[in-house]
Amino acid sequence: MQIRAQDIVKSFPGARRSALEGVSLNVGSGELVALLGPSGGGKTTLLRIIAGLDLPDSGKVFFGDEDASEKSVQERRVGFVFQNYALFKHLTVEDNIGFGLDVRDRAQRPPKAEIRRRALELLDLVQLKGLEKRRPSQLSGGQRQRVALARALAVEPRVLLLDEPFGALDAKVRRELRSWLREFHARTGHTTIFVTHDQDEALELADRVAVLNGGHIEQIGTPDEIYDHPATPFVNGFIGESTAISAHLREGQVFLGDHRLELPKANRLATSSDGEGQLFVRPQDILIGEEGPGALQAEVLSVRRSGPTRRAEIALPYEQSSIEVDTPASVTFQPGERVPVRFLRGTFFLKADAAGAA
Ligand code: ADP
Ligand code: MG
Repeated sequence: MQIRAQDIVKSFPGARRSALEGVSLNVGSGELVALLGPSGGGKTTLLRIIAGLDLPDSGKVFFGDEDASEKSVQERRVGFVFQNYALFKHLTVEDNIGFGLDVRDRAQRPPKAEIRRRALELLDLVQLKGLEKRRPSQLSGGQRQRVALARALAVEPRVLLLDEPFGALDAKVRRELRSWLREFHARTGHTTIFVTHDQDEALELADRVAVLNGGHIEQIGTPDEIYDHPATPFVNGFIGESTAISAHLREGQVFLGDHRLELPKANRLATSSDGEGQLFVRPQDILIGEEGPGALQAEVLSVRRSGPTRRAEIALPYEQSSIEVDTPASVTFQPGERVPVRFLRGTFFLKADAAGAA
């Protein structure tokens, strides 16, 4: 089922600015799209509007070709999982899953045996077979979220809406559930919108990522597009690590002072017009200790171990502040040493555009 949100505007009474300032989002049939952004960006508000739990001030929501804007939650047939999806403590896993079917109007309620059959089938689907008689308190956090997912699926939703479903779990369980969900989605193909403020989670899980900030979408793209070609300084700063260096663009070339950096052609600049601005570079895209086109002489300030690599802090000519560089652990530099530095890629934003960076 394809989902389309069109020009959604939403303000809450008393708020200084709109929670959503005209957001449009297309989610293709069977696609998994992550809504990624900082807290307060509008992710939950957009999800609730798509679900029909909230009404927008203006804008429309389409499910396939059908205008769902006036339809109720039940009519839209959406399945939800929230961060703290409280399962009913007093009900077994099986009854929790069947709950959505059991509370239906008599006319639409399947017989008890059918509800039970369906609950067991879903438990199998979320790979928790055999746990049907347990209570929520007898499950791990990760198992509970899978039961919540099975419960969301019980009503045969046309779309799955997941709002930070793993947010309350510890890092290791989150990572496990992340790859589990990826595999589950590949297996079942539900159209899914997944909300998270965790960039790793979004990049790893989603077919496409929509970055939502301050009530508007900054960029929508595949994980590679978002990571390698951030469209705005905000996206550049929010996804991955990067350092901003004062630079200018002249005839399509990036300069630090009067030094031309010779960034490889593969690099994409966010702008084509010349001017003063900032070059955003990621620590892994800076090479130190090797001469080559565009190399600058820099001074090593400090070096420390950082997981599988070393992280060096270096001082560049023309630049006030120091920058961070990743090097293989086998490479060692001493503080005070002078080394050549090359930039392998980076994204340049004009000062006017960079002003928007938070
Ligand atoms: P996110 O899920 O990205 O953290 P939200 O959609 O929850 O963001 O919130 C977006 C903005 O709308 C925030 O400024 C928040 O304070 C405001 N907001 C959300 N829900 C309500 C509400 N029910 N009443 C008033 N303000 C709200
Ligand atoms: Mg939220």
